Amino acid sequence: MKYLSYWHDTATPFADAQQGPVEGSFDVAVIGGGFTGLNAARKLAREGVRVALLEAAHVGAGGSGRNGGHLNNGMAHGYAEAKAHFGAERAHALYKAYDRSIDMIEDVIAEERIACDFRRSGKLKLASKPSHAAGLRAGFELIHREVDPDTRWLDKAELGAEIGSEAFHGGMLYGKSAMMHMGRYVNGLATAAHRHGAMIWDRAPVTGRSRSGTGWALTTPRGTLRAERVIAATGAYSGSVPRAPLAHFRRRIISVGSFIVATRPLDPGEIAATLPGNRTCVTSMNIGNYFRLSPDNRLIFGGRARFSAVSDQQSDAKSGAVLRRSMVAMFPHLADVRIDYCWGGLVGMTKDRFPRAGEAGGMFYGMGYSGHGAQMSTLIGQALADMAMGRQGTNPLDGLDWPTIPLHSGKPWFLPLVGMWFGLKDRLS
Ligand SMILES: Cc1cc2nc3c(=O)[nH]c(=O)nc-3n(C[C@H](O)[C@H](O)[C@H](O)COP(=O)(O)OP(=O)(O)OC[C@H]3O[C@@H](n4cnc5c(N)ncnc54)[C@H](O)[C@@H]3O)c2cc1C
Repeated sequence: MKYLSYWHDTATPFADAQQGPVEGSFDVAVIGGGFTGLNAARKLAREGVRVALLEAAHVGAGGSGRNGGHLNNGMAHGYAEAKAHFGAERAHALYKAYDRSIDMIEDVIAEERIACDFRRSGKLKLASKPSHAAGLRAGFELIHREVDPDTRWLDKAELGAEIGSEAFHGGMLYGKSAMMHMGRYVNGLATAAHRHGAMIWDRAPVTGRSRSGTGWALTTPRGTLRAERVIAATGAYSGSVPRAPLAHFRRRIISVGSFIVATRPLDPGEIAATLPGNRTCVTSMNIGNYFRLSPDNRLIFGGRARFSAVSDQQSDAKSGAVLRRSMVAMFPHLADVRIDYCWGGLVGMTKDRFPRAGEAGGMFYGMGYSGHGAQMSTLIGQALADMAMGRQGTNPLDGLDWPTIPLHSGKPWFLPLVGMWFGLKDRLS
């Protein structure tokens, strides 16, 4: 088994990173080489803006190269919750922004000719308990009526054509949702940004930021560059570089581990017995699972598994064992199927599980997608590019307040308690 992201292992790495020292003067500097930062850089470079991107590790090293591969429309925290939180008009607009983000990815892929196996697969949200089916169905009726007619309810009997598991009690189908190869997309974005003129440095963690004339100087171990404006696109990894000038975000983002295993390629009989519908699937549990088939027909099966703020080989292996048990409980016929990959990454949660994008402390920022960012990050990247060019009106999160999390400065000491609370809710539901 490889303790490595399947997306990293099966995509051609970005090969055009700057080799020399970090130096020069730019209009905009972007910190972070995931979907958010890369699409901001791509858009800025296309518009003729002088842009530099600094990435601590390599392009796609964060969530963008480690996720489950789902481009799900609908919100992480639900439409009804968004209505209660922000009011009907804003919730409606936010829901539509998720739809738009997937359309935007499709456009970017076409514009930049990125071969990344994008497919409008649809997403199934599956009721893990009979008691969950009623709540899920009520949510479906509200969404279908008010904001997304491209949705459908499936009773338990109808699920047989979609999924080869007896574990579920009905499900909601989101027709607009999609899937793609995340490694090929993230490297394709970097290649496109570079082609349009962006300068991308990897292995260049930003460790300092200070005033320089009308702009900022960004310091890395490989040198310093100057930029008039700065975009922070560091998401769940905002705490990963010691001394990084990102404390504002560390106090507002909770970084939680999420973990994934991928089987060997399944044969046609196994595919038909497992996911004949070939959609992205998520379960209704708080500590739930998400899964889909890869382009080469592996089952990519993820979940929170453990409430850990660490993703390294040891932590990933422990979570992988938990995930394998969940996978076999759902699909007993896969009990002897080999697991080829096991990996994990950090998800950037906000307290209310809605993302944030705006300007703070002299930086534009977009993050906190709360496990639902593979699609929204492309749209927010574009909105951040607009903001850096002084254009308003494309940020769907404009004006949302973002208070600090009390007693939190970056290390989520409270995760085991949150895990116990969600576990209890799952048992009692
Ligand atoms: C296991 C897992 C499964 C997921 N599954 C899904 C899914 O199926 N669907 C979905 O919608 N979302 C999913 N997500 C979430 C999604 O991947 C993220 O929301 C999205 O990739 C965020 O992109 P980003 O560009 O904002 O951040 P990232 O991709 O995390 O990029 C941030 C980058 O900033 C860099 N960085 C940090 N600090 C510095 C510094 N000081 N200097 C320079 N660089 C720095 C990091 O190295 C990193 O590369 C998942 C996440 C994980 C971890």
